[in-house]
Amino acid sequence: MSKIHKLTDEVVNRIAAGEVIERPAYAIKELIENSIDASATRINIEIEDEGLTSISVFDNGIGIEKDDLKLVLQRHTTSKISNFEDLDALTTLGFRGEALASIASISEIKVKSNGWQISNTNKKISKIGMPEGTIVEIRSLFASTPARRKFLKSKENEYRQILSQIQSFALNHPEISFTFVRDNKTIYNLPASSLEERITEILGETVANFSIPISLKDSYIKINGFISHPQVSFKTKNKMLIYINDRRIHNTSLITSIKESYKNLLQTYDYPFVYLKITLPKEFVDANVHPKKEIVKILNEETVLQTLRENIFETLTKHNLTFSNSSWKTRFTKTDLAKSLREQVSQTAEYKIAKVKKNSDIIQLHNLYLVTETENGILLLDQHAVHEAILYYKFKQAYLNKKSKKFSVKISKPKLIKLTSHKASLASENLEYLNKIGFEIEQFNETSFKLYATPLVATDLDPETNLNETLEEIESENKRDVEANINTMLSYLSCRSAIKSGDKLTKKQMKELLRYLDKIDLGYTCPHGRPVKVELTKQFLEKLFLRS
Ligand code: ADP
Ligand code: MG
Repeated sequence: MSKIHKLTDEVVNRIAAGEVIERPAYAIKELIENSIDASATRINIEIEDEGLTSISVFDNGIGIEKDDLKLVLQRHTTSKISNFEDLDALTTLGFRGEALASIASISEIKVKSNGWQISNTNKKISKIGMPEGTIVEIRSLFASTPARRKFLKSKENEYRQILSQIQSFALNHPEISFTFVRDNKTIYNLPASSLEERITEILGETVANFSIPISLKDSYIKINGFISHPQVSFKTKNKMLIYINDRRIHNTSLITSIKESYKNLLQTYDYPFVYLKITLPKEFVDANVHPKKEIVKILNEETVLQTLRENIFETLTKHNLTFSNSSWKTRFTKTDLAKSLREQVSQTAEYKIAKVKKNSDIIQLHNLYLVTETENGILLLDQHAVHEAILYYKFKQAYLNKKSKKFSVKISKPKLIKLTSHKASLASENLEYLNKIGFEIEQFNETSFKLYATPLVATDLDPETNLNETLEEIESENKRDVEANINTMLSYLSCRSAIKSGDKLTKKQMKELLRYLDKIDLGYTCPHGRPVKVELTKQFLEKLFLRS
């Protein structure tokens, strides 16, 4: 790497300043970025107490020259840029020369490189024995700034943020081997591999099995990666991994565009998994707009968004999107309980709200919309939403009738469930809550849990999938009380059991839906908040056709 030097005041003034080390995860992010910038092919990360006691990152990159070691802990010293022009054509992840200095101001830091070391407590350079490369050790992070410590979240939450940083780099660099050790326990030991193997290793087999490759090579934009089959979706955006010119970024308009390409293949609050590597000419991307470098400015953002939308949409349409039962765990195990729930409800729901005109016909359009006549106009229905709302109503009634008896149901043989490291951390933090809502569950080892019983309302769902989805709900901060959680599970159950968009319905099935619609007041939205029905009144139609 070229020599480290102090940036001139002019360059410093153009650099987006800001405190970047708010939590251990960000310190780790900066250290890994430095290792990648140093062309490392191996990076070993170790933490104690979520990084507060110690963080150590070793890499086998090109290292720092002895003379330069003196400068690394000073502010605005970098080997990566020299002048204005370099800022517009960055080839490295770092460029501000601030990270190590910022860390040095809030911890004890030691930098060892190619046989020499320096620390912020002993500024004299001394010789040491070590392998080629660089080791950065941080101890007592935030010890001198107790106020900062107070702002940290729970231990497991901080750990997951660290994990998520490491995962993000590991996914973007399958050619680098990574190890990650937490409190002397190995979490990851990832040899250099293919991207597919990395995805399986980090995000689990389900995601890997339902990934669709995507690629586009245009004159100015290159897109490469994977997007998920709509059969798998998640309650949070954290599996939307987007990299622009090798930098992981969090950009709301990109996320919205991607969701738009899935159109009605996903529910409103569901997100796909995407791993997208977008390459744009360097001069189109400005990384110098955000202190943590998590947002970049794209010069021609609208065009990029449009290209991306079209590309994802095309990829999805070319792919066979038929739902398969075999791989993503069969969602439902048809238990007797579910059957009895369904039977019970056929006699419920007594009150009427006659809206649909008697004996009126009903037709299906685009295998999705149903059209019928009301006393005062035309009724349009979304077949999935309406069926979902009916099922939800029925299940809720049945649950209320059964409620007093038993809360969770033993599964015939305790099930050992292996979770991803991320989900395992969530589960272990929320064991008590999980047990409260009806999962009888205990931790077996780092990432495996033993499940003895599932919530009564959810016996119709595959326990493993249900646990995974509940954890996603918990993560999206929707931790609810027991009753509310039951509502959520009932809404899952209804959503997954309901007819889908694209299903061809017979007249009989359509009439059956109408019959229920007449019987119960479903309100105007499904449990997910999407409209179920839209009425175009005669008055509205008359206005539309200029008859009044
Ligand atoms: P920046 O990455 O923005 O240049 P940092 O404070 O992160 O600023 O690092 C300062 C300098 O220290 C870098 O420019 C680089 O020359 C050197 N450096 C830091 N970490 C490493 C490493 N792991 N391997 C080689 N050089 C490093
Ligand atoms: Mg850096």
